[in-house]
Amino acid sequence: MTVQIQKYKMLIGGEWKDSSNSAVSSILDPSNNEVVAEVPRATKQDAKTAIESARTALDSAGWVDIDPSKRGRLLTKLTGLVRENSEQLARLETLSEGKTLRESKGDVAWAARAFEYWAGLADKVEGETIPVPPKRLNYTLREPLGVTVHIVPWNYPIALAARSLAPAIAAGNTVVMKPSEITPLTSIILGDLALKAGIPKGVVNIVTGSGAEVGGALVSDPQVDGIVFTGSAETGKQVMESAAKNVTRVLLELGGKNPHIVFPDADLARAGKSVRDGIFTNAGQMCWAGSRAFIHENVYDSFVKDLVAKTRAIKVGPGTDETSEMGPLASKSRQDVVLGFVKDGLEEGASLLCGGKRPTDPRLQKGNFVEPTIFENVNGQMKIGCDEIFGPVLSVTKFKTLDEVVTMANETDYGLYGGVWTSNLKVAHELAARLQVGGLAVNEYLVTFPQTPFGGYKDSGIGHENGIRSLEFYTRTKNVSINLS
Ligand code: NDP
Repeated sequence: MTVQIQKYKMLIGGEWKDSSNSAVSSILDPSNNEVVAEVPRATKQDAKTAIESARTALDSAGWVDIDPSKRGRLLTKLTGLVRENSEQLARLETLSEGKTLRESKGDVAWAARAFEYWAGLADKVEGETIPVPPKRLNYTLREPLGVTVHIVPWNYPIALAARSLAPAIAAGNTVVMKPSEITPLTSIILGDLALKAGIPKGVVNIVTGSGAEVGGALVSDPQVDGIVFTGSAETGKQVMESAAKNVTRVLLELGGKNPHIVFPDADLARAGKSVRDGIFTNAGQMCWAGSRAFIHENVYDSFVKDLVAKTRAIKVGPGTDETSEMGPLASKSRQDVVLGFVKDGLEEGASLLCGGKRPTDPRLQKGNFVEPTIFENVNGQMKIGCDEIFGPVLSVTKFKTLDEVVTMANETDYGLYGGVWTSNLKVAHELAARLQVGGLAVNEYLVTFPQTPFGGYKDSGIGHENGIRSLEFYTRTKNVSINLS
């Protein structure tokens, strides 16, 4: 069967454009590595043009003077359009990222909720009056930050695009978004829907191209007022260095090596499913993946036996196949990296309980599939114990006491997220206080809402996405003091 290759353009200043040197990148279906689409491969000059368009739009009458409630209505319109186009968006997400259609539909629904949430907040970006000595009025103005650059990774393309696009628009900013070159399709469609919703030309720009070249040009441009970056800690540090040269504000959401802790008094059936899904959802390509499970010694043997059985039962296959429960990795290079980690784990003496290789099913040989994998006998000094694998690889470790599990859980440079399973409230609250993570789920895992802050401790990032407090990033505060005497 011949696959119809869709050709896309990028959105700059409200116009659909090719790259200035006409170069294109191919988008591959990770389940078979066939080309499914072509997008412009932008140049540094295109990045500059997009920033200039965003700057012009920021200062144009149609945006700078707009009634904030109208920004809210535009976002409401966009919410509706995302929902109306959810089937197409989910299919494109699965086609380029590989995740199952069920997961993609969930991501699109989450994106729509994010637009909806921020639509309601657009006219509630309030300043404050501050009591000062008499005969003065002192107040703050919350102004848009300005031109914001959004570097979106490939693991949750539409959800993470919406997560930063929605508050940026609600607060009156303009946007240059660079989706990952692996998964730009749903960002391009979001740009189209933003135009259809009536968001003025130039407010949302979508530039497709490589991270190193175009991403690098965007984050080092002095015309940019804020950078939202989600990706690896290594690239995040480079982004921060570039931003520092221009004193540009950054919001960084980086990796994780997240602990998922199970006490013997928990609902163990639910905990087992949660530990499995907490790592194998999206083939483990999640910053908040529960990649380190700590299981209390009283239940360790039976829990792990059941977990291994549940993991072996996961049906691996193309995301477009409705019966698949886990799709491929997003790219061939990711597959190589993950299999490299498995090799490291074996060489370092960890014990493989299941998986650890490409599936043998002949129908999956062209894709970037890796079997869901579990190791035990892993410690925090091993590569698989401390590096973010970003694939379907879990390590399970036995613990005896609460103090011991806190030490092991915190023994990582990351501090993004964690999970605790217990029916003892005292234990839950103690862990909430002692775990060095920006988010903790008790008796569930992988829960985030547009209204709840999401961000990391330690090397997992700076600042928060989601929730009203993230407006701190998307706005500037101006203090006004008026002498009334
Ligand atoms: P990167 O951090 O390199 O890429 C993340 C995003 O940054 C992509 O959109 C990429 O674009 C872009 N980018 C790359 N280099 C630059 C640059 N110099 N300036 C600006 N933007 C840039 O991650 P990788 O894709 O290489 O994945 C490596 C590891 O990163 C993963 O194994 C995982 O551990 C972690 N990661 C974490 C994510 C998270 O959710 N926190 C998301 C993705 C990765 P492009 O893809 O076009 O190169």
